[in-house]
Amino acid sequence: MAVDLASITGMSAPTELLIGGQWSAGRAGSLPVIDPATEDPITEVAAATAADAIDAVDAAHRALPGWAATAPRTRGECLRRAYELMIADTEALARLMVLENGKALRDARAEVTYAAEFFRWYAEEAVRIDGTVTTAPSGANRILVQYQPVGVSVLVTPWNFPAAMATRKIGPALAAGCTVVLKPAKETPLSALAVAAILAEAGVPDGVVNVLPTAAPGPVVGAMLADPRVRKLSFTGSTEVGRQLLHTAADTVTKCSMELGGNAPFLVFADADVDSAVDGAMIAKMRNGGEACTAANRFFVHEAVADEFTAKFAARLAALHVGPGLDDGTDLGPLVNADTRTKVATLVEAATRDGGRVVTGGQAPDRRGYFYTPTVIDHVPPTAGILGVEIFGPVAPIVRFTGTDEAIAMANHTEYGLVSYLYTADLRRALAVAEALEAGMVGINRGVVSDPAAPFGGVKQSGLGREGGHQGLLEFTEAKYIAVDW
Ligand code: NAD
Repeated sequence: MAVDLASITGMSAPTELLIGGQWSAGRAGSLPVIDPATEDPITEVAAATAADAIDAVDAAHRALPGWAATAPRTRGECLRRAYELMIADTEALARLMVLENGKALRDARAEVTYAAEFFRWYAEEAVRIDGTVTTAPSGANRILVQYQPVGVSVLVTPWNFPAAMATRKIGPALAAGCTVVLKPAKETPLSALAVAAILAEAGVPDGVVNVLPTAAPGPVVGAMLADPRVRKLSFTGSTEVGRQLLHTAADTVTKCSMELGGNAPFLVFADADVDSAVDGAMIAKMRNGGEACTAANRFFVHEAVADEFTAKFAARLAALHVGPGLDDGTDLGPLVNADTRTKVATLVEAATRDGGRVVTGGQAPDRRGYFYTPTVIDHVPPTAGILGVEIFGPVAPIVRFTGTDEAIAMANHTEYGLVSYLYTADLRRALAVAEALEAGMVGINRGVVSDPAAPFGGVKQSGLGREGGHQGLLEFTEAKYIAVDW
């Protein structure tokens, strides 16, 4: 039974495709959006086909010359208005997000603020797309470099941060003068559609932002990547799907940015302030219920502080209130769907078979909804399978270590390299270890790194390119070099 979205959220949420400024039905009919806390459908949204995707590319392509030629200040002001509208609508957007994603309302409110900040940051960056003029080493000519918008951009986003992963791409794309087609995850299309409605209200012209929910992401994204008018793919999601899309994008040599999976280590050294490390662990593990690419996935704790850290961390996790995200007092909502819960449960069972000892949690509560209890597993052997997989849930495996080199080697023993966290009171050690860790980002005595002003991204199989900061804008540009003799 569908629910009355307007009465729960206080906003009228769009549920149709957005193509060329028109809200329209999808040629594939509709797809249900499920509330993970009840397992019931909350509404249906229009579902796009490959033909709808080409219509959206047509619209984005038509809108491109006008938007690219729009004054940077005007582009920036549209983004700034969108920031203000999002902030004004924080509560409604957060409630909508909880319904489709399940996360606790507190996390959803934080995400709306974080998501809106990308619009504010890129409103400011739109007027700072600086080129350079230099003299050629031979002295014969000048070298002019200017940054031009790359063109029509396809944006593909995951369900875990349904607003922020969209604004982290739309903000820089629009600031740079690109037009976009956004394909949100089928689990969470409502937040993406609501953000698009806000951009329209903020004055973004028709066709600059198009949105295509679909149950057939392969054909829909494939059709767009095969179209030579599409010049950019910005993808956030799993490494597995990212790899496939890099293959597909190779056929048209489309410029790619890839924000992929993570397997973050969280290192606690013997001299660390344990209480502060536990505070950091709570954020690094439990932000978004553990469903974050930046989630601490493997805890490496020095033997000297392991008992204290584990006891305190487990007590904090055991005290969390698990329940529907919209309920007052909920700290941890459900996982996004049944498959995710099964995966988490299977990993915990395997970790205990591998020799880990469950300190707290370790089961799914007996209730409707895709809930899983916060879990700490101590004495996990370094060879355990759980350490090689992105858990994407509220489960913390702890491995004990004694030597710094041993800890670094274990931390780097993964094909991922998104983020690492470390706690120590010794600045020299902190910086030396940060340099040795194979990761695009490092948090020192800090459990969160995400910031719209900072370059977010991974090394190894965690991705290509950066989002956020000035680098995030350059991803949506091409450098043009002009040789001038004057
Ligand atoms: P996913 O890879 O299954 O899906 C991501 C997006 O790709 C969705 O929109 C999905 O519909 C689409 N997709 C799926 N198959 C596709 C195909 N064959 N062709 C084209 N598009 C396709 O990932 P998910 O489960 O939605 O999200 C979780 C993953 O995202 C985790 O691995 C997480 O680490 C990663 N993630 C990374 C970052 C980052 O910034 N590095 C941020 C958030 C999430």
